[in-house]
Amino acid sequence: MADGRNTDLTQFLELVQLVEDFYKSGFKSTRQAGNNIAELPPAELKVDRTLVRPERTAKLEELYQEIKTCTKCDLHFNRLHTVPGEGVFNPLIMVIGEAPGQQEDKIGRPFVGKAGIYLDKWLKAINVDRYTNCYIGNVIKCRPPENRDPHPEEIAVCLPYLERQLELLKPKFLLTVGRISSQTLIGSTKGIGSLRGGTYFYKHLPLVPTFHPSAVLRNQSLRGAVWEDLKLIRALMK
Ligand code: SF4
Repeated sequence: MADGRNTDLTQFLELVQLVEDFYKSGFKSTRQAGNNIAELPPAELKVDRTLVRPERTAKLEELYQEIKTCTKCDLHFNRLHTVPGEGVFNPLIMVIGEAPGQQEDKIGRPFVGKAGIYLDKWLKAINVDRYTNCYIGNVIKCRPPENRDPHPEEIAVCLPYLERQLELLKPKFLLTVGRISSQTLIGSTKGIGSLRGGTYFYKHLPLVPTFHPSAVLRNQSLRGAVWEDLKLIRALMK
């Protein structure tokens, strides 16, 4: 029990320090050489071939080609890249955000700006990362202009892509970050402040909603709630 409390305390202190890290150094000083996301190759799909049947890989690549050429909504007009997502097959957790931002649109990878680096730290605190046991994506695959909220009709036409990803990737748990992805998958119009703190299900998958990392970067008072949500999903994983 004492060891468990010490681990909790260590992870909590690490999380508490995340925003301070960001404001002091943009996280750069704490990152190891070669572990900088900006140095990694774009849009990688890490595949454990001992766990994945080849047809699943082929179907996912086919899906990403379809997304790449998609013109089903007006968001395709201004995009530089589609951002289908990245991570591993059979992830323990699939993180689902709202839509790509400016940095993501530039290089075609999800959560690579400051909010993405912050998200990676959250995940690290519960022993999860996008290169070994996690997949990170968004409800919407193209950047809305000026990062506006996606319109309901845009969500409606893009959501089937996420549903097909879920079928192929087969995550065990979902972590939705932010209001839009949480409302969409939970099927509620409540704000994220009301939705978070509980467990829901999306197509039989346990789902924990929490704040978006960019919201926490803007408002440090949300850190404690995020830590509670991370502890909740960690407890489910156990
Ligand atoms: S946002 Fe989704 S539906 Fe709209 S163009 Fe991009 S991929 Fe297609």
